[in-house]
Amino acid sequence: MGSGLLLLILFLLLRAIRKSRQLSRSQQNLQHRHELILNSVADGIYGVDLEGRTTFVNHAMEQLTGWSSSELIGHNAHQLLHHTRADGTPHPSEECPIYHTSSSNRAIFIEQDIFWRRDGSPIPVEYSSTPIRGDEPSEQGAVVVFRDLSARLQATEAARQHQAELAHMARLSTMGEMTSGIAHELNQPLAAIVTNAQACIRLLHTPHENRAKLEKVLGRIAEQAERAAAIIRQLRRMARKEEPESTHLDLNALIKGLLPLLEPEARKAGVAIRIQPGGNLPPIAAQRIQIEQVLLNLCRNAIESMVELPHGQPRQLLITSAHHEPQTLLVRVSDSGPGPSTEVRERLFTPFTTTKPKGMGLGLSISHGIIEAHRGRLYVETHEHGGVSFCFTLPVCEDL
Ligand code: ADP
Repeated sequence: MGSGLLLLILFLLLRAIRKSRQLSRSQQNLQHRHELILNSVADGIYGVDLEGRTTFVNHAMEQLTGWSSSELIGHNAHQLLHHTRADGTPHPSEECPIYHTSSSNRAIFIEQDIFWRRDGSPIPVEYSSTPIRGDEPSEQGAVVVFRDLSARLQATEAARQHQAELAHMARLSTMGEMTSGIAHELNQPLAAIVTNAQACIRLLHTPHENRAKLEKVLGRIAEQAERAAAIIRQLRRMARKEEPESTHLDLNALIKGLLPLLEPEARKAGVAIRIQPGGNLPPIAAQRIQIEQVLLNLCRNAIESMVELPHGQPRQLLITSAHHEPQTLLVRVSDSGPGPSTEVRERLFTPFTTTKPKGMGLGLSISHGIIEAHRGRLYVETHEHGGVSFCFTLPVCEDL
């Protein structure tokens, strides 16, 4: 009986040891899995305790900041990463939102801030800081997840530059349309200079040279010359920057590339943009920025035409590209809006035709000019069941 009990105790003891080993193994597995997950994330992740000391870091954090885990863990994260604001002023830890996360027990999200790399260079980041609620004070603190915004900011800057170039193009085209007005504007001071110069000559030939009068007429010449110079200065200012050369362009890539510029407006207007790119399109020879401007004008007009549609009615912008004839490509920009009224339709491509409170009425006439200069055609098609399409053709590259 005694030895039976002993055996039972021994058996239970062995089972308990086995269970404990299994538990420890599964805990190790779990920890390994957690580490794997943490280290697979592309965002930087680190934990801080109630004192602001780093408790854990993931691989991305090490890569993004240049600090190794051994340099970070146990040290004050704020002093290493977050000590200075973007404007170069010191950032005291008492003012750091991460520091207050656990005391306020509220998660925070900061859209744009600066962290500092080990080499002293800044990283633009967005980050969230979420409290960690553990039973023990040693388990409390916050977990910070941050994302490097460099690429996104660069893309935004590239889009901004792109837009500036597009705007430049619009200026050039507008100036082209304004040429006769500008010439007229220049003609007036030049004519005044001629008249006044002739008056001076006449005055010089009079027997009693009238110095005061001569001075007055010369003053008027200087004034008119300054007026002409001001017009030329304005012209040069608007035309600054060389026009780019024609290049071989992939029309589908060009259309796709415009989406980042169009999407914010489309989103605001509740418009869905769809692209149907034609297959195997040969390149066209064109000035990229000009074709982009045409597309941008047409798409923006399409989006704007759908803003007033009643709720529930589809707001769709469809951009298609296709082979039109063997040597011509066709781009069609269609919307589900009401289309222009008959009266506007007749004057669509005439400068200063607009129905918008802030419209200039230049977009379509500029676009028309650009497409004609590329030996294509811009025209409008209205559809029986509603909606309108603005279409343009472009010849394919001849030297292919
Ligand atoms: P703006 O945009 O400055 O008015 P545009 O030349 O781009 O100048 O367009 C001239 C006018 O043509 C617009 O004001 C509008 O009335 C009409 N229009 C252009 N595109 C569309 C469209 N997709 N649907 C309806 N009307 C349009």
